[in-house]
Amino acid sequence: HFPQSEILNSLPKQFFASLVKKAGEYIERGFDVINLGQGNPDQPTPGHIVAKLQEAAANPINHKYSPFQGFPYLKKAVSDFYFREYGVELNPEKEVAILFGGKAGLVEIPQCLLNPGDTVLVPDPGYPDYWSGVALAKAEMVTMPLKEENRFLPDYSELGTEDLEKAKLMFLNYPNNPTGAVADLEFFEETVSLANDHDICIVHDFAYGGIGFDGVKPPSFLQAQGAKDVGIEIYTLSKTYNMAGWRVAFAVGNESVISALELIQDHLYVSLFGAVQEAAAEALTGPQDCVKELNEMYEQRRNCLIDGLCSIGWDVSAPKGSFFAWLKVPNGFSSEEFSNILLEKAQVVAAPGVGFGSYGEGYVRIGLLTSEERLAEAVKRISELEIFKK
Ligand code: PLP
Repeated sequence: HFPQSEILNSLPKQFFASLVKKAGEYIERGFDVINLGQGNPDQPTPGHIVAKLQEAAANPINHKYSPFQGFPYLKKAVSDFYFREYGVELNPEKEVAILFGGKAGLVEIPQCLLNPGDTVLVPDPGYPDYWSGVALAKAEMVTMPLKEENRFLPDYSELGTEDLEKAKLMFLNYPNNPTGAVADLEFFEETVSLANDHDICIVHDFAYGGIGFDGVKPPSFLQAQGAKDVGIEIYTLSKTYNMAGWRVAFAVGNESVISALELIQDHLYVSLFGAVQEAAAEALTGPQDCVKELNEMYEQRRNCLIDGLCSIGWDVSAPKGSFFAWLKVPNGFSSEEFSNILLEKAQVVAAPGVGFGSYGEGYVRIGLLTSEERLAEAVKRISELEIFKK
């Protein structure tokens, strides 16, 4: 009977809730539902990382509060990781913040840097948590359309001068959820130049940084000349190392933004469980074969899905990274109508694109988070839909 605050009520609603509910009803009725709608990695964390957690959990040093801003060895592991993977040098003390998952960092950033009424540039379609952070900071959102003809990169020349002058913050995310697009370094260089011209802080969400296909390694924003002067990058261990349940990520880059993030975290939490920090350092600096194997697995799943759908006459293109396929809805259906058809007629759950923003209309997002056999079964069921009958 206690009413929720205005700010809590202003948060975006779970767009997916009604489809999840309906899928649950189908499962209850005994249907074999193939859920390709969500983004929860299906593989376990590699064994050497779990073993490190178990060992570290027995060490009494990890039973106390950890140092407020995380153990220095983990920050050092992050800087070693960035140097090894991207050739980017980081000062572990000043340019690395340890986060309770990428989501927390993304939601905290607007509160760190904005005042009510400030403007934020947000990709559309995009990961809905950017909207939550903006709402909590009582800031205003201006969307940047991601269109297929522009390889799902924002076209900065389309942004209005007034919006650019007012904007204080911009979110970007490559490899991209939901479109599966990967940016090139040239785009990041163009972004640094725009940020310099208009004094905008860039937050690059690199959640899928570890997942690129066809031999392409997705670049880090920090590889662009001058990137550290204009922004930060957020990297999570959730996807690259199948550690979504562990809640561990980090932010790297601009010193003043990193210290603002650490300050807000001081007020919210103490620090991650020390054993999780030890295991995270092991993930970043230990054997990396698991990452290569994960990439190969997702690429095979992608090929299975995309080749299968093309063979039944659905005109789809292959994602370049992340573990999502972004598929154009056939026959002029809306994304919600088509998701409903997939569930009702094929018991396949796909996320309606409109849930990621108005430019997501006309697409559905399918996750590559189940076996090739199940993906092939999904394709088979879809091929039996009336609209694909030749
Ligand atoms: N960014 C994007 C684009 C995501 O899809 C996700 C997770 O689904 C995250 C960030 C957050 O990941 P986590 O909070 O597990 O670090």
